[in-house]
Amino acid sequence: MSSAATGMELVDLSIRIPLPGTPRRWVYPARDISLPFHAGSITAIVGESGCGKSVLALAAMGLLPAGTQTSGSIFARDIDVLAATESELRNVRGRGVGLIPQSAATHLTPVRTIGSTMAESLAIHGFPARPIDIAHLLRTVELDAETARRYPHEVSGGMAQRVLIALTCALEPTILVADEPTSALDADTAALVRRQLRDQANRGAAVVLITHDLVAARAAADHVAVMYAGQILETGPARVALRAPAHDYTRALLAALPENGLIPPPGTPSSLVDPHPAVCPWHQRVGVSCSAASLSAVGADHLVACDSAARC
Ligand SMILES: [Zn+2]
Repeated sequence: MSSAATGMELVDLSIRIPLPGTPRRWVYPARDISLPFHAGSITAIVGESGCGKSVLALAAMGLLPAGTQTSGSIFARDIDVLAATESELRNVRGRGVGLIPQSAATHLTPVRTIGSTMAESLAIHGFPARPIDIAHLLRTVELDAETARRYPHEVSGGMAQRVLIALTCALEPTILVADEPTSALDADTAALVRRQLRDQANRGAAVVLITHDLVAARAAADHVAVMYAGQILETGPARVALRAPAHDYTRALLAALPENGLIPPPGTPSSLVDPHPAVCPWHQRVGVSCSAASLSAVGADHLVACDSAARC
């Protein structure tokens, strides 16, 4: 780990997953990613759908699909998740690394009440919970105690997401990974999720917010990493990188926001299947020559990839 204040760190991380139905073709959702996630702050990983960012959430939990090959490391709670045994991973998940998934409803057991699922999950992680504790947890996400008696199919997607957040945050994980936690939620629930993430960071957690929504990232994050086709193209303080970006891909993402005229990024997103190692996928997409130079500093804690001439 590079510093005591780093909650999680990706070091030269590359991931390749076999392309289903093909014996020798691979999907590369992460290529040579080195990225710290600081304790006590929120780091957003932003990029278009399909850029590989959700695979990073699975990797941090040690939940990559069978047949996946990796190199590099993911340091979390002083262990390398990629080299850990299944029993070490069980200790890391929950109180070490907590995950708020994209679709909360599918993570609740359909045949059991929400209260019973919550009590069991807390007990597994060493927190025996009484009904009054469950009621208290539900109140932290502005749900009434009656919710504990309901089944997952009886609540909305937003309510299910609130339940999952209450449960994940109750374990006070050292590292909290939230994968598109506010997509498809009403504005009140989205605001509540952002407050919960900030509370967790204030408690000292390293919070990783994975999102395609730059407005959400700008509202919530202290640091940002901009990801494209399995690579980080820009990283830095959110107030710098999302207001005065140094990479043309970040500028293209910002141009797609409603406030900037909804101009979509040019071209079509690059495939993650068997990319050429020496070709920059973003600049290939927009027809600009680039030797795919790795990240270098352009300011304090502000790093940017690609040839300087290409990213103008
Ligand atoms: Zn480039």
